[in-house]
Amino acid sequence: MADIMDLIRNKKKAIQQSSGRRQKTVKPVSGKNKFRILPNPGDEEGQFWQDFGQHFIKDTNDKLQAVYMCVEKTHERACPICEGIAQGINEAGDDEIIEALKESRSSSRVLVNALHLDGEDAKTPVILELSPTTFEKVLELMEEYGNVTSLSEGIDILITRSGTGLNTEYSVLPAAKSKPVDAAVLKNLHNLGEYVEQEYDEGRNKAIAAVSNVSGLMLAAPPADKPLAKSLSAPVEDSLDDDMYAESSAEEPKKEEAIAKADSDEISDDELDDMLASL
Ligand SMILES: [Zn+2]
Repeated sequence: MADIMDLIRNKKKAIQQSSGRRQKTVKPVSGKNKFRILPNPGDEEGQFWQDFGQHFIKDTNDKLQAVYMCVEKTHERACPICEGIAQGINEAGDDEIIEALKESRSSSRVLVNALHLDGEDAKTPVILELSPTTFEKVLELMEEYGNVTSLSEGIDILITRSGTGLNTEYSVLPAAKSKPVDAAVLKNLHNLGEYVEQEYDEGRNKAIAAVSNVSGLMLAAPPADKPLAKSLSAPVEDSLDDDMYAESSAEEPKKEEAIAKADSDEISDDELDDMLASL
């Protein structure tokens, strides 16, 4: 017999999925974080992670303009945002614009199901979002300790986050003690493949318009006479002002407001968190 809470959860998920909103992922916070990474719901010996790429499109003042998934990093399909950015970098001819476009290239993330053992609810799986380098450390741990995702024989892991900005570091260590995980959690695992199905027209158009705006080039943006309506379907992070296209002009970068940028193209988790928090 169907469980009403499962029905509610699934319906909520379906509504969010089709509107471009989605459940928030969990990221390790500063200090120690205890997680138990969980197996693939369909195949306990199968791939338990999901690659996920996102574009954080910034203007020449380092201000975030749009967030949209990168279908190339996520699904290995041609990504219109990547193409627009590449075109902009080729044709812009202005160092500040080129730098902003480079920063808007997609960042890779790895998603796994996990129990957040020192979080608010240690029994309900969350989607844990890790940088590729942090996930690499999880994989190294698995080379040493075997399949850490096994419910009976796996181990809890401690992810410690230290430093800030580009100096943020993550260490991954086995917890001193681990308990077996109740198999009941499996029915609440997130379908990560479904989770990353996040394409939606409004978001894509917004992202392309933002790239056009930053680069000063006319890319395949939505028609100018059709303003993007403020919609309930905006994704969680995407509470951007719809007036932003009218406000900012990439053709006249304001040098005095430009924020010093790090040399690295890689955006740190902290930077992303700060940007998302500021939206
Ligand atoms: Zn892309």
